[in-house]
Parts: sequence; structure tokens; C-alpha cells
Amino acid sequence: MKKYLIIMGAPGSGKDTQGKRISEKQKIPLISSGDALRDEIANGTPIGKKFQELIAKGLLVPDEVMFEFIDNLLSKYDLSRGFIFNGFPRTIPQAEFINCYLNKRNIEIDAALYLNVSDEEILRRISGRRICKNCGSVFNLYYSKPNIDGKCNNCGGELYQREDDFEDSVLKRISVYKESTLPLIDYFSKKKILIEIDGNGAFEKIMERILEAIND
Ligand code: AMP
Repeated sequence: MKKYLIIMGAPGSGKDTQGKRISEKQKIPLISSGDALRDEIANGTPIGKKFQELIAKGLLVPDEVMFEFIDNLLSKYDLSRGFIFNGFPRTIPQAEFINCYLNKRNIEIDAALYLNVSDEEILRRISGRRICKNCGSVFNLYYSKPNIDGKCNNCGGELYQREDDFEDSVLKRISVYKESTLPLIDYFSKKKILIEIDGNGAFEKIMERILEAIND
């Protein structure tokens, strides 16, 4: 089984949801740069304020800042047992940085899973996404509507839309993704660790494709 994994794809490609399930099923930690950045924002630190401005605009946090942030984030885990990185690397310099970090620990990435989803589906997934303020459950107005408008099925909490899921920000995130992150597809392909997964269709079906790819 492949256990040193990266999951990548455009915003709204399902990385978070699929990543969580793989992490539970394979018993490897899901390490998400987006979640860690949002935690920093929630803590109200000065650097958190900077992150918030960038994230709300759909821009990337600069690489030099991310190197230190990723270093600190990864130091909290025993990576030798396996992992799934979500949201990073997002640029070629970040990929080089991570390569170097892992090499020092004698770890090599087994697979970069690339969830390939059509632009049309991405827009629906993102614009329909609603998250519970209380328990973090994720709903979608097109695919998995809450039973009561604006309320969480699990805890009754209020649902909200991520600031960076608003249309302006989404369009920016997609263009940033195409410019900065898409080159990684080629990068991992040359390293022979890219596994492309058809990310269109039902959640369970996509999950099956991923499990098949990592359990070979
Ligand atoms: P995500 O939850 O992965 O969609 O990340 C949300 C936002 O956090 C992104 O749009 C970026 O602004 C920022 N972000 C997350 N990961 C990275 C990263 N590896 N490099 C730069 N910015 C990041």
C-alpha cells in the first residue's frame, strides 16, 4: 500500500473530503496547509491577520513564508508512519522544499494523486459549498443539501460560506491554481509518481478509484 501521499487538484476538486476519508481508512494523518493556516487565523496572531488578507483575496501565501510554516507543521507529526499532504506543495519551489525535508528523513513520496475535475463541476462544488460554524460538517446546495436551509443536519449549527468561496475569490483561486500549481502535474509526472484520478461523478466512485490506485 502506498502511504506517503500528496493529494492535489483544483479548488473544489474534492481534495478535502477525499483526503479525510483516505486518512481514516488507511490510518494515516491528513496534513492540510489550508486548515493549519485557518487555525492560525482563528488564533488571532499577527501573522494570522496577514494570512487572512491573502486567503480572502484567493492569493497564495508567499513561498518563503510557507517554507517556515510547513517546516513547523510537519515537525508535529511522525511522518515515517505515512501521511497525506493536502494543499501543499502548491508551487514548484514548495515541492523542492518538501522533497529536501523528506529526503533528510529517508522518506520518498509514493504518489501524487491528482483529482482531475471539469471546470463546470468545480464551479458548482465551490459555489454550493456550505460549512457548519459549530462542527465543521460540509454540505453542498447542489449535491448534499442540508435538511433545513442554513442549518447543519448533525448539530443544528448555522451554515456559512467560506469567504474565499465567493465568486470573485473563486475565479482568482482558479487562475492562481492554473498558473502556480498546474506545473506540479508535469513535475510529478516526470518523477513517475503522478496518479491521475477521474474526479468527476459520485463521491463513493471517486473514493473507489483512489483506493484502487493506492492499494495496488
Ligand atoms: P485550501 O484550504 O487548501 O484551499 O487553502 C486555502 C487558501 O490558503 C489558499 O487559497 C491559499 O491562499 C492558502 N494556502 C493554503 N495552502 C497553501 C500553500 N501551500 N501555499 C500558499 N498558500 C496556501
